[in-house]
Amino acid sequence: MVKMIAKKEYIFEGVPVQVVRRPRMKNIRVKVVPPYGDVELSCAPGVRNYEWEAVLREAWQGIMAARERFLQGCGERIAADGGRCFLWGKAYELNVVFTEHAHFARLVDGHIVLAVPPGSGREQMEDCLYELYRRELERAVTEIFPKCEQITGLSAKEVRLKRMKTRWGSCNIKEKRVWLSLNLAKKPPECLAYVIIHEMVHLLEKNHTPKFHALVAGFYPEWQQAEAWLRGECR
Ligand SMILES: [Zn+2]
Repeated sequence: MVKMIAKKEYIFEGVPVQVVRRPRMKNIRVKVVPPYGDVELSCAPGVRNYEWEAVLREAWQGIMAARERFLQGCGERIAADGGRCFLWGKAYELNVVFTEHAHFARLVDGHIVLAVPPGSGREQMEDCLYELYRRELERAVTEIFPKCEQITGLSAKEVRLKRMKTRWGSCNIKEKRVWLSLNLAKKPPECLAYVIIHEMVHLLEKNHTPKFHALVAGFYPEWQQAEAWLRGECR
């Protein structure tokens, strides 16, 4: 006899949660699935929504921490004596220069130079690096976004960038506005195109249904490679 596994997507605290009903499942199990950090919850068919919601609420902080680990991109190390960070999928050595009134990040001879005022802490250095990420992304989005519109035949009113800890991007369907995470500057540029397409497809299909995934795969056939990079398998 074939037992049916039923899957349904819910939005919990603004995060997509796939609820998978498995026959013979004894308990409620939650996992975070890369690269988007979607939450997958498995339980028996008879479990009521409020029951799994209570389990989810209990585990929520840990789930969000796991999501953050995926969505931060490749781990950078920023310290006063230097460090390492990623730009467009490549690792760069970081040189921190302390200069009065300075606040900029620049790519110089294969290094990323962060110039910050004396006494700056990790937070200021990070802000400085994210300004570089923003500039790089603004330039790339200007180039890539019209191509994504062409591929999908869809159009969004605007693309905005911000620091996001728990997602690569999001789509405000009503406003037709795509938000992208500044962390995408750490990944190969292909990931940027892939995430833009993913978010634009939400204009057609709100949830991560099989139809949604088929549309994304149709518009972006190399999606598996992009997902692998987003998961952190850097080239
Ligand atoms: Zn999505």
